[in-house]
Amino acid sequence: MPVLLKGSCRCGAVRFEVESHTPVPFMLCYCSICRKQQGGGGFAINLGADYETMNIRGKRSLGVYRAEIEDDEHPHCEVSTGERNFCRKCGAALWLYDPTWPDLVHPFASAIDSDLPKPPEKVHLMLKYKANWVEPVIGKKDKVFDVYPEESIADWHKRTGMWVE
Ligand SMILES: [Zn+2]
Repeated sequence: MPVLLKGSCRCGAVRFEVESHTPVPFMLCYCSICRKQQGGGGFAINLGADYETMNIRGKRSLGVYRAEIEDDEHPHCEVSTGERNFCRKCGAALWLYDPTWPDLVHPFASAIDSDLPKPPEKVHLMLKYKANWVEPVIGKKDKVFDVYPEESIADWHKRTGMWVE
């Protein structure tokens, strides 16, 4: 059985539930969008979940942010296809949905209220774009990437035995 992730914003205007086979908060993204939108420690943690199982209460309070990206990887300014959902009342960042991969949704670990499994190892990505004051805490088994990692969230869970059937 997949894990039922229960999440909410800080003020409670938005609550959601979604089933996940990949609930381990192992993926730390240091890009400027993640850091500025909800990564006070310099990074955000994205989980993977099954979009078709998602239930949302308080949709009226949702705002959607689509970031404009212009950097080495995107030399011409592009509007991200990723839809970053947040609460318009309290500003909490909640999840990322990208219609390019319509089966998936990526809740931010920070928005989840249920307990999550502890990661046996972590992935640090987009370190090329981290702020200069951020000192990543890299564990012995952790993997680090200037930009994107080789492994998907699903593949990581399968390799580490953390995939939830
Ligand atoms: Zn709120």
